[in-house]
Amino acid sequence: MNEIWILAESKSGHVAPVSLELLAWARSLGKTGSVSVTAILPGPAIDPEELCYFGADSVIHCPSEGLSGFSARPLAACLSALLERRRPSVFLAAATTTGRTVLPYLAACEGLGLTADCTELSLDPETAVLLQTRPAAGGNIMATIRTTRGKPQMATVRPHSRRPLERDPGRTASVEVMDFHEAPGAAPPLGRDGGDSPPFPNGGLLLVEERPFESSRGIADARAVIAGGKGFRKKEGFALLDRLAGLVGAEVGASREAVDRGWADYPRQVGLSGRTISPELYIAVGISGAIQHLAGMQTSKTIVSINSDPEAPIAAMSDLAIRADLYEFIPALMAKLAGYRSADGVEA
Ligand SMILES: Cc1cc2nc3c(=O)[nH]c(=O)nc-3n(C[C@H](O)[C@H](O)[C@H](O)COP(=O)(O)OP(=O)(O)OC[C@H]3O[C@@H](n4cnc5c(N)ncnc54)[C@H](O)[C@@H]3O)c2cc1C
Repeated sequence: MNEIWILAESKSGHVAPVSLELLAWARSLGKTGSVSVTAILPGPAIDPEELCYFGADSVIHCPSEGLSGFSARPLAACLSALLERRRPSVFLAAATTTGRTVLPYLAACEGLGLTADCTELSLDPETAVLLQTRPAAGGNIMATIRTTRGKPQMATVRPHSRRPLERDPGRTASVEVMDFHEAPGAAPPLGRDGGDSPPFPNGGLLLVEERPFESSRGIADARAVIAGGKGFRKKEGFALLDRLAGLVGAEVGASREAVDRGWADYPRQVGLSGRTISPELYIAVGISGAIQHLAGMQTSKTIVSINSDPEAPIAAMSDLAIRADLYEFIPALMAKLAGYRSADGVEA
């Protein structure tokens, strides 16, 4: 049996949604019975069983306070200690700030390989080696990488590259609670010249203060995104998109063509060289659906496209493909929406 570990994360005491995406990736790597999926959950969390409901066969919860917050060294020491006990064949983390910091640290300490920021994972049907696919050469090619020497094969996976499985509260799994207290010197040394005693007990870091990140996450976590492309033909056209997004409570996204033309800021770019998003609703307006764009939004739950060309590739991806001139369709749609709103007594 192939054992797969995922590094779960928690946010404000709850399992983070990105960990549920990792479970879906892990489960996709084999049929039930041929893989066993273990979630490692460091730090205090009140709902570790959620990981079972979303696909974990077992959970190892290490609730010690020292493992919460952003500090790679104690977490890497904890993971190293777990690997001493048992070595899975695959270990995945999300390509979040935590995953991108801790997993390379662990890989270096263990002398193992790591592929960062994968957008696709599968198992070689012959050898069961993990095929780790990620954009390379500035996104011009997709490279598939194997890390065949040593166990586990490690990868970080781009958030929103897969939707979580349906929650199944009937799933049962074991939750093992392990107290991990970092003994002085237990942390793996930092790099080749490591080994010096860190000046602070928390792995060389002194936590001064924690402040919540206040700025908006923009399109990353939005439930609805309306994105515009070159079909708008001019910057002023994007004002129409802003008004429509405001009306329906969506965030504005953009294709690379639109961003390159200065019609939208780069953080709003959807696609291979922009953000990967997975909203409940994605509306593509005047966007053709180039492969690099699709790579950033194809896991959206419902996709609607508005395009004058019925042959545009985005139409084939869409749950609803509207063939229309955007400059006619959007004002008409806004007038309708405004009509509904004023009928409800809500100002448009
Ligand atoms: C390495 C690399 C990375 C890339 N990364 C990204 C990325 O992250 N994101 C991304 O988006 N692209 C990316 N691209 C670019 C990508 O290949 C496409 O060039 C780009 O997505 C096209 O943008 P578009 O759909 O807005 O423009 P076009 O392909 O020109 O499409 C415009 C669409 O608008 C429609 N249209 C025109 N007029 C109207 C109208 N009046 N009403 C309705 N519809 C209309 C047209 O029918 C057409 O389908 C990348 C390319 C490379 C090489």
